[in-house]
Amino acid sequence: MKNNTESSTLTTCPYCGVGCGVEARISDNRLIAVSGDASHPANKGRLCVKGSALHETTGHQGRLLYPQIQGQRVSWDSALDKVVDTFARLIDQHGPDSVAFYLSGQILTEDYYVANKLMKGFIGSANVDTNSRLCMSSAVAGQKRAFGSDTVPACYDDLDEADLVVLVGSNAAWAHPILYQRLVRAKQARPDIQVVVLDPRRTATCDLADRHLALKPGSDAFLFNGLLSYLAQANALDEAYIAQHCEGFDAALEQAQRQCPDLITTAAHCGLDPADVQWLFERFACTERSLTFYSQGINQSSSGTDKANAIINCHLATGRVGKPGASPFSITGQPNAMGGREVGGLANQLAAHMEFGNPTHLETVADFWQAPRMAQAPGLKAVDLFQAIERGDVKAVWIIGTNPAVSLPDSAQVRRALQRCELVVVSDCIEQTDTTALADVLLPATTWAEKNGTVTNSERRISRQRGFLKAPGEARHDWQILCDFATRLGFGDAFAYQHPADIFDEHARLSGYRNQGSRDFDISALAELSRSQYDALAPIQWPVTEASPEGTARMFADGHYFTPSGRARLLPIAARMPANPCRDGDFVLNTGRSRDQWHTMTRTARSPRLLDHCDEPYIEISERDAQQQRIHSGDLVSLSALDAEYIGRARVSPNQQPGSLFAPIHWNDRYASHGAVDALVAAVTDPVSGQPELKQSPVRMLGLRPRWQGMLLSLDAIETPASDYWSRVTLEQGERYALAGFSDRPDWSDWVKSWLPASTDLIELLDSRANHYRAAAFRDGRLLWVFIASCEGELPPPAWLSTQLGRSLTTKERMQLLSGRPSEGAPDQGAIICSCFQVGEKRIRQAMKEGANSVESLGKALNCGTNCGSCIPELRALIAHA
Ligand code: SF4
Repeated sequence: MKNNTESSTLTTCPYCGVGCGVEARISDNRLIAVSGDASHPANKGRLCVKGSALHETTGHQGRLLYPQIQGQRVSWDSALDKVVDTFARLIDQHGPDSVAFYLSGQILTEDYYVANKLMKGFIGSANVDTNSRLCMSSAVAGQKRAFGSDTVPACYDDLDEADLVVLVGSNAAWAHPILYQRLVRAKQARPDIQVVVLDPRRTATCDLADRHLALKPGSDAFLFNGLLSYLAQANALDEAYIAQHCEGFDAALEQAQRQCPDLITTAAHCGLDPADVQWLFERFACTERSLTFYSQGINQSSSGTDKANAIINCHLATGRVGKPGASPFSITGQPNAMGGREVGGLANQLAAHMEFGNPTHLETVADFWQAPRMAQAPGLKAVDLFQAIERGDVKAVWIIGTNPAVSLPDSAQVRRALQRCELVVVSDCIEQTDTTALADVLLPATTWAEKNGTVTNSERRISRQRGFLKAPGEARHDWQILCDFATRLGFGDAFAYQHPADIFDEHARLSGYRNQGSRDFDISALAELSRSQYDALAPIQWPVTEASPEGTARMFADGHYFTPSGRARLLPIAARMPANPCRDGDFVLNTGRSRDQWHTMTRTARSPRLLDHCDEPYIEISERDAQQQRIHSGDLVSLSALDAEYIGRARVSPNQQPGSLFAPIHWNDRYASHGAVDALVAAVTDPVSGQPELKQSPVRMLGLRPRWQGMLLSLDAIETPASDYWSRVTLEQGERYALAGFSDRPDWSDWVKSWLPASTDLIELLDSRANHYRAAAFRDGRLLWVFIASCEGELPPPAWLSTQLGRSLTTKERMQLLSGRPSEGAPDQGAIICSCFQVGEKRIRQAMKEGANSVESLGKALNCGTNCGSCIPELRALIAHA
């Protein structure tokens, strides 16, 4: 029953580019539960496991609450004076390009709008880029080259309408779960829908596929060049569409035929069986409703833009753009990557989808803003920006809501750059991240549950994100902080917004300013909304104009594009392999997401439930490579490149190609000693988009032989455990650490006392023959920490020990504790597969032995897979390999 103070708010999930609607239930300024918003068209009431755990991640623990300069709390006035004085001095002495903003696809469109307007129109530099550069900038560049505009033609309904869905470089089952499950339901309803996955790795997404083509890492453009050649040979082109609506077809086809003249050559380039290639090409040729769904596996490449255009070429050549079930469909990773693009959040864009190279656009934006100092040329893209900072060309950077010290390639270079930078300002909601550790000035910002504005998802749908909790401490909204800064710089009149609705109104008016159908992005029909209309704004797909007041589901159905000629462009694509080839002994490292974590874990690692699925950095290794290197699942393995090292647990898998490895992007210095995988990735970028090649990096691999391994559970957080290797997870109470040492084992008793929280109430057990050591410490009779180490043999499962932290224990229970196991009951259920109902692998295997041999029967027996469905591919894999 709801109590009197309980209320609910409709808002939008802050994680991925699906942009699901969320109903948040609030009581006493606390988020107590979330559920899917049944009225939101993106998810129709469903949430994935990350979205379902949002209420577990909004506590104030670890929040940045007050402004700081060099780690000392200061007033907002002092902090902003410091930032303004330094920015103003540097601009005066060295020009506007000596300063920069680095933003995030997590912030709202209104925040983005203000930052972009300030930097490009008033400071006079285009040095404003965003972590969306790492996510989808190749897709943007590909669309702009082909369509003359950064327009996604498709919508989510196309997943229901398509007869052939080709997923390329997308593990949608984990990265965009709600869209993947929509496709699952579509295929259940119409089993004849063909689903093909193109991915070097057999991912959870392949669970749905009629066929998985495990192509060579990075060879995607060869495959689509081969497809274009095949379409011509098979007379499967839409000649009339090409003639009426396209340009560049002949050159594109000639290049495709030169590189991939036939199936055999194409298959050889891609390392595929020619029969599989033929199967795919025949289906694409004869299926009018073909949808190509692509994501980071395409974009994060030194030739990502060309890959995007190779895909789009095939759709243009068959006239399959913007029609029901037929389009190329780029899916963004971040919740507001598209909103950022709308306001010019990338260094090479102007606001409202206008361009630097276009004098009319420059004049239009400058006039609209009455900009005193309009930037005239693109600024520095993310990787270039941090290199310019290291060189000293950029002397002050303001980082908003992102963690580049972990997420950018060659992250050691990024850290060096920030250490050398004269002024590093970081606005964030979290106090301790790898990037805040390098800041001179920290500014406390509001976060998801407190922010108010709009975001745009992968199908161009603008949704309201509505704040429902009071900001803690002195946290302020990003747009407010930026407006205050702008006012202190002397631009108060242009930044006198009182509410995000004022900013949205200006953004909407600019989109229609001197537009008259010349630009794709036009939401002028949403200008001049009253505050209450803005608050009530229902999700809507742009363009929203007088002619289309209800929004626009699909684009380009009429064959009119935004190029000067009005025709779409096919581009000749010289497909190429990754920039850094492997030498003898190297492995190709692919990086990506794990199912239940998000970005650098600043939010999702607060939920113990979300860490249960995967609690340590890991490396997926093929069976052949593991055998050759004598590596077993669970071993610690080192990867090295660029003088950096990543250590994770081996996961030996039949899903991995020999020679290829996979490691997750999430871990960082806050959660593991050697978990920042992007430190191994060279800063090689796509020449058009500037997007780094995060998917194919050469690395060395070495199986490690630790001298001892241990487990520590502690009520108090341990800043840096004193072991060679460690990783940390958050528990309901306290934290748990995996530890290992690579040199001789220490004198255990002295060693633990040297770095663990002190206690005079300590019990210890040393088996010197077997090299086991166990100790537990108490504070006021309650369990403070327990440490278990061994030079050989297994450690006990952690689940029961986790429940003992903070408890008062009897003498018998204290002895029991050192065994690491309860006297009876509480069986170990193994790694958690279903995070929603906390169902572990061992329980699932037991249920399978007892006759549950389908996802449905496991669901009936254990509930697993019956809520968000994110674990269903893993349940199917367990059944398949039983
Ligand atoms: S699919 Fe994406 S937007 Fe939807 S609930 Fe999951 S993380 Fe959030």
